[in-house]
Amino acid sequence: MEKKKTKGGSSMKILAIETSCDETCAAVTEGTKILSNVVWSQVALHKEFGGVVPSIAKRAHEEKIDWVINKALVTDVDAIAVTAGPGLAIALEVGIKKAKGLAQEWDKPLISVNHIEGHVLSGLTPEVRFPALALVVSGGHTELIWVEKIGRYKIVARTMDDALGEALDKAARMLGLGYPGGAELEKKAALGNPKKYPLPLPMAGKEKNLAFSYSGLKTAFYRLTNAQRSELSSQEVNDLAASFQETAFKHLLRETKNSIAFYTSPHPSPIIGEGVRGRGIHDLLVGGGVAANTKLREEIKRLSDEVGMGVYFPAKGMYGDNAAMIGIAAGFRAERGEFTDPDTIDRRPRWRVDEN
Ligand code: AMP
Ligand code: MG
Repeated sequence: MEKKKTKGGSSMKILAIETSCDETCAAVTEGTKILSNVVWSQVALHKEFGGVVPSIAKRAHEEKIDWVINKALVTDVDAIAVTAGPGLAIALEVGIKKAKGLAQEWDKPLISVNHIEGHVLSGLTPEVRFPALALVVSGGHTELIWVEKIGRYKIVARTMDDALGEALDKAARMLGLGYPGGAELEKKAALGNPKKYPLPLPMAGKEKNLAFSYSGLKTAFYRLTNAQRSELSSQEVNDLAASFQETAFKHLLRETKNSIAFYTSPHPSPIIGEGVRGRGIHDLLVGGGVAANTKLREEIKRLSDEVGMGVYFPAKGMYGDNAAMIGIAAGFRAERGEFTDPDTIDRRPRWRVDEN
């Protein structure tokens, strides 16, 4: 099997802009080096609605985009990068319009970037060996991606309904833990007994279909919390949080392990295409806001040790949405000569990471 070390991306200085969801972000990168990374979170604006409201996100991006760009612009840049998708259409449009305008005004090349590719590369170091398997777990996405090399991806598994972060947030809300509740749920779970309340493991008996599903678990949890006779005690909240989190992570880990088995097995598999089977996985790359969860990282580390692979997590501040990861992905696109015409750039709300 081929083992290659990654180069550091292009030496261009890139201003990257990210407005795909509820964070207004700008960064300047040079290859994989981060010169600045500014995130303005809109969480407080969406809190009372218990989820991201697209029209509010759009308006907040419009109000804050110049501020984050001015703060991030610590040097002259050679190119402008922007997230073109996937994400909320009217939120993406704000960043795209800005990036296009700056590219034309400054006469600099424009690079459109896939948001998921940003998460895939957010923990990249020169030591990562390809092919690798990337796990992206965030508020909007739950995907396993086979990374043949930087720029060549194949989606192995994705969620059929809710994303993991979305499910954790909803469970947290049922327990009255606020929004977004993933981090708070983690704290309560650390104090609880994960075996107290048995919950159905998603996709049980369907191990051959590599996919994620969290809506059934969410419904089961809803019934479970409603079935509690009185106001929940703090120990009950802790036990419920621990039980939900454990089942949600168990599903994630099991699908990841199955994917590794399929990709590294020399035996024919009906799931994996001929061109890919047996070509292996050397390392695991992990990204997205949910990977900020310490328990989850421990479990992924345990899995990587078990299968004899290295695992790479993002640096602090690089888990959730940010523009530095978009700049890093853009550097590699620039190196491959993949620039975008400002006259035709458009938002791509459903852009798959394995599509050009
Ligand atoms: P992103 O979509 O990448 O910006 O990440 C946001 C998602 O990550 C939300 O669903 C959060 O609840 C979730 N999240 C953030 N921190 C944690 C944590 N410590 N444990 C679990 N989920 C988390
Ligand atoms: Mg994200």
